[in-house]
Amino acid sequence: MRTVDIIKKKRDGGVLSAPEIDFLIQGYMKGDVPDYQISSFLMAVYFRGMSDDEAVALTQAMAGSGEKLRLEGVQGLKIDKHSTGGVGDKTSLIIAPVAAAMGLKMPKIAGRGLGYTGGTIDKLASIPGLKTEITEQELTEELKTVGFAIISQNERIAPADKKLYALRDVTATTDSLPLIAASIMSKKLAEGLDALVLDVTTGSGAFMKTRKDAEELAGLMVKIGKGSGIKTIALITDMDAPLGKAIGNSLEVKECLSALKGKGSQDLMDLSLTICAYMAHLADSVSEETSPRKLKDDLLKRYRDEAMDYIEHGDAFKKFVEFIDAQHGNPEAAFNLSLLPRAAHVQPVASPAKGFMKRIDAGHAGHASVLLGAGRNKMAEEVDLAAGIVLSKKPGDPVEAGEPIAVLHTNRPETFREASEVFLSGIEIGAREPARVKLVHEVIL
Ligand code: URA
Repeated sequence: MRTVDIIKKKRDGGVLSAPEIDFLIQGYMKGDVPDYQISSFLMAVYFRGMSDDEAVALTQAMAGSGEKLRLEGVQGLKIDKHSTGGVGDKTSLIIAPVAAAMGLKMPKIAGRGLGYTGGTIDKLASIPGLKTEITEQELTEELKTVGFAIISQNERIAPADKKLYALRDVTATTDSLPLIAASIMSKKLAEGLDALVLDVTTGSGAFMKTRKDAEELAGLMVKIGKGSGIKTIALITDMDAPLGKAIGNSLEVKECLSALKGKGSQDLMDLSLTICAYMAHLADSVSEETSPRKLKDDLLKRYRDEAMDYIEHGDAFKKFVEFIDAQHGNPEAAFNLSLLPRAAHVQPVASPAKGFMKRIDAGHAGHASVLLGAGRNKMAEEVDLAAGIVLSKKPGDPVEAGEPIAVLHTNRPETFREASEVFLSGIEIGAREPARVKLVHEVIL
């Protein structure tokens, strides 16, 4: 096999075999295939796309470039959820302890955020002492006792993804659906899962701006999951408005702690419970060897009620405290919020008019939060864990002129003016109460 022939085949619209894709990825990892040839290959994929089988082969080759988590000693069904990210999207920190309370095992490899699509690892960094780099032995022990663990990607987990991602970033090949799908799923394959629920967001604050692109990405990731022996379903969810009220790392952790006491805003609780419901349904379909399906209202409600029960009885909150402790954090922070990072400066944003909040654009709110310091534009940048925005109003709420609609938090007060302008340019206030937006648009099986 010659690398140049494989590139040419893809360039001319051919379909590569699994051994050809494996040859490229393995060669790249060994240093036999140079960056410039992989760059050409990525560009050929960008223009020609990939068949489902090619995408499965690429994902498996990328996952196979590293190790799987060694979880042989962990009894029980291993399941994860993954979101393609969004503004205020913090559901993992609510879902993981609920899933653990339900008896599921959730070994989660999470990432840092880029731009305004916040990362779970950044949110967890705001809990004093908490480590997301733990030993394999600690991971196994935590899954056995707590039921979930959240770790960051390391050099042993899908290392080909890390190298390819850096190359995609500088060769204008990031926004290719098969490359995105393979990148995300290679890390999920490394978790050694039985089942996976994907939350593919769409809208102004999402990676996928249109429903069509979100559905295509979801469909491909479901095929990759299934093709790799993992029961996988995807929900297409709305990200035109921020999820919940908090945007920004420490602010979102505080909101999750409230949600774990049953006091989260309706959209955040709704989506978290729906994802928990689908995780429970997938777990049942693994045990019963049946195919997962789109849940009818009554069954969805039953599963959601069960998940809510674990919140109302305090089991999920307790799991979260155990998780902090197991990952070397200070569990006291779950009870005493003053132990979490707090910004030195806060400033309210006043409503420009009276009426009903019609739109809070997630893209604008996300951009404003990055200006305040809550996100990063390049992977190497630091984030201000305390910075962000807390919404005082959600779409549909009545509002008076001059009333605060949000509070900005930062340690860099010189950013207030621009952040406030950007945030306000995404606000629409109408005379009549707007219709509620559907949170889950579609279920992809
Ligand atoms: N997240 C990933 O892990 N990879 C991508 O390519 C895009 C989002």
